Amino acid sequence: MNVVFLGPPGAGKGTQAKYACSRRGIPHISTGDILREAVANGTDLGRRAKGYMDSGALVPDDLVVSMVAERLSRDDCGEGFVLDGFPRTVAQAEALEETLSANGGVLDGVLYFSVDDEDVIKRLSGRRICRECGANYHIEFMPPAKEGCCDKCGGELYQRDDDKAETVGERLKVYYRQTADLVDYYRDRGLVAEVDASLSPSDVQAEVEKALAGLDRS
Ligand code: AMP
Repeated sequence: MNVVFLGPPGAGKGTQAKYACSRRGIPHISTGDILREAVANGTDLGRRAKGYMDSGALVPDDLVVSMVAERLSRDDCGEGFVLDGFPRTVAQAEALEETLSANGGVLDGVLYFSVDDEDVIKRLSGRRICRECGANYHIEFMPPAKEGCCDKCGGELYQRDDDKAETVGERLKVYYRQTADLVDYYRDRGLVAEVDASLSPSDVQAEVEKALAGLDRS
């Protein structure tokens, strides 16, 4: 099952993608995670991407498209994948279609996570991530048992630089300017199932499972 999770930053795509992928044994491909790792490792890609990421802008299409094409060519994508955070522009969506068709594949569906801006701002500004295992928390909605400390592995929790208030507004603007049109792009192709991402994480999970089951049958 080849699926894209689409929606604004902070809609909960990453959390839901991790769960859906672990249930199905398929890879969760988050372009944000791959880019952050490249920055942390100081690779050439990381050095070229960092400035864009720090300011909340998109990394240029050519860099991200070739990164995703390489990732999709790996063996673990044979049974499908969930792409989280890609595509983010129409040019990336077109490139994805080409990459898949070159390998004899198609996109089976797009889950659109809808949520309003106020929720996005609250979620992103309260989000904390474990440095060790990557688990996500929220200081108000999903706090860890001990402040600043991961429940799963005891790792230190931190706030992503681009989740700080000054960058969140820019990321939302970038979403509306460059990414939101993809909802109609994929609707026109009959691929979109909408998920109400303003619900609680467990209710969103139920909606995601229902939508994915619909794709399994089709
Ligand atoms: P995310 O974790 O998905 O919110 O991504 C964090 C940052 O990585 C974004 O604000 C962009 O700077 C960059 N990024 C992630 N995915 C893409 C993409 N598909 N195209 C361009 N930039 C991206």
